[in-house]
Amino acid sequence: MDFVCAGNWKMHKGPSEAAAYIKALREMAQPEELARLVIFPPAVCAAAVAEGVAGTEIRWGGQNIFPAPSGAATGENSPAVFKDMGAKLALVGHSERRHIFGEPDEALAKKVQFLQSIGTTPVLCVGETLDDRRWNRTAEVILRQAKIGLTAADPTKPVWIAYEPVWAIGTGEVATPLQVEEAHSILRSFLLEWSSAASAVTPILYGGSVKADNVSSLAGLNNVNGFLIGGASLDAKELLNILRLSRDARGGKI
Ligand code: PEP
Repeated sequence: MDFVCAGNWKMHKGPSEAAAYIKALREMAQPEELARLVIFPPAVCAAAVAEGVAGTEIRWGGQNIFPAPSGAATGENSPAVFKDMGAKLALVGHSERRHIFGEPDEALAKKVQFLQSIGTTPVLCVGETLDDRRWNRTAEVILRQAKIGLTAADPTKPVWIAYEPVWAIGTGEVATPLQVEEAHSILRSFLLEWSSAASAVTPILYGGSVKADNVSSLAGLNNVNGFLIGGASLDAKELLNILRLSRDARGGKI
């Protein structure tokens, strides 16, 4: 399974900054590194990113979608339009969507299903809150989110999982290697039960305050197939650095 470093820009950057970022990334990265990079720009930058990555292997995707090709859904983004613009993936259930906007697991399951139906890869994000962890509910919570999120999913079509403990997102507090390995192994076992064929090709990314300073202790762990990076991905050089340090930590294999 190929290793990926995905940058989630959240609500940062406008079209001109996005274009400059992608230009810098293209200039700095080796061709084989481009295929390991994914960008999730805000929708207002989608066109600039799509244009910037055209002709390269850099992939990009929406941060959020509404599960319909078009219609009465004011303020939402059509996954069919993203696809038409070249998006290959879309985030589903990022912790900010779950916790700021109250998106429930059942609604996320519809997004996963719809994305797969149009040939876009959903990246289903799961993760426990600090309270969940304190009360020893991590396994229960991430399994529930994964199970419901994938209830209507087709195991023969691509899906990615991102384990993002809520308490580690944007806080500077990164999960320990043991915590990451445990959570990823729980998710891997679940995927194996869901479909062993799907599990063999489904990456599980870790996200939560990943940066160049801490990536080396995480990149080589069992079942860590990449990273979803927020704050640190806002700088193209840092994103590339994280990818390169991951490669080193994995003995050159990405
Ligand atoms: C994220 O937005 O998915 C994320 C993990 O953010 P950060 O790296 O800033 O914690």
